Amino acid sequence: MLVHTIKEVREKVKEWKTQGLTIGLVPTMGALHAGHKSLIDKSVEKCDKTVVSVFVNPIQFCPGEDLDKYPRTLDEDERLCNEAGVDLIFAPSPNEMYGQGHILSNDFLTYVIPPYFYVDKLCGKSRVGHFDGVCTVVNKLFNIVQPDFGFFGEKDRQQLIILKKMVKDLNIPIQIIPCPIVREESGLALSSRNKYLSEEDKKEALALSKILFNIKACYQKGITDCNALYETAFSYLNNHHSLEYLEFRDAENLEEKTIADNNTIVFIALKIGNVRLIDNISLGDL
Ligand code: AMP
Repeated sequence: MLVHTIKEVREKVKEWKTQGLTIGLVPTMGALHAGHKSLIDKSVEKCDKTVVSVFVNPIQFCPGEDLDKYPRTLDEDERLCNEAGVDLIFAPSPNEMYGQGHILSNDFLTYVIPPYFYVDKLCGKSRVGHFDGVCTVVNKLFNIVQPDFGFFGEKDRQQLIILKKMVKDLNIPIQIIPCPIVREESGLALSSRNKYLSEEDKKEALALSKILFNIKACYQKGITDCNALYETAFSYLNNHHSLEYLEFRDAENLEEKTIADNNTIVFIALKIGNVRLIDNISLGDL
């Protein structure tokens, strides 16, 4: 069932809560693919009822980013959700979420601001205010849907770490369930933004996963010096790539690592033309 208003969600949720059913929430921006589906499948398996939100959240986009051209494919998304056994799709308008005229300035909206230490690095560095927008909308969705579990992909690892911190710091009674990155056979992590890539770009985009897989292989052979591991990336880069960051950070608190260990996440952001892609790998996972 597809609904567009908070009122309709609240009515459904009330009905489910009185029946004592557990609720899973999968927040998305739509243009759903197998990565999103893996989160949905996990929720359907674990929870009595699954809600998928489809909302291109304007307040998490920075000026000059792709808010207007972000792919919007609600009919296909609805089909995928129905086939996957989703109970409710919540696709609100910006007005529904942020009020008439949706004045999106910091001056007119109560925001949830994550700690500076978590946002002054990686994606937060170039996307100033992005994680304020993410935490604010996820908090709103948590309050609207009141789920028992929230499902989030490791694809957006910094986001996942920040949301876990938000839930802990604000005592939100919801368990965050992390879900592994789904990749194409080539290694490329699935992303709605892959739609922006030409076939040629897609080949260039393999540099991200190749760099990460190679770093992990080197680590597993015993190289733990992060500088040495960093250096290995250059053989995969060419003039089609613009490296934004390649960093080694702690899986819990994002502190920088100089010596890699099993708690280390390697984060990469790379631009191919105008398309910015991110990926990461945990050195600890087998
Ligand atoms: P988005 O629609 O891009 O905001 O993503 C919605 C959710 O799906 C987020 O929790 C993402 O981390 C997750 N997600 C997106 N792509 C993937 C992927 N390739 N593998 C696993 N999770 C993903």
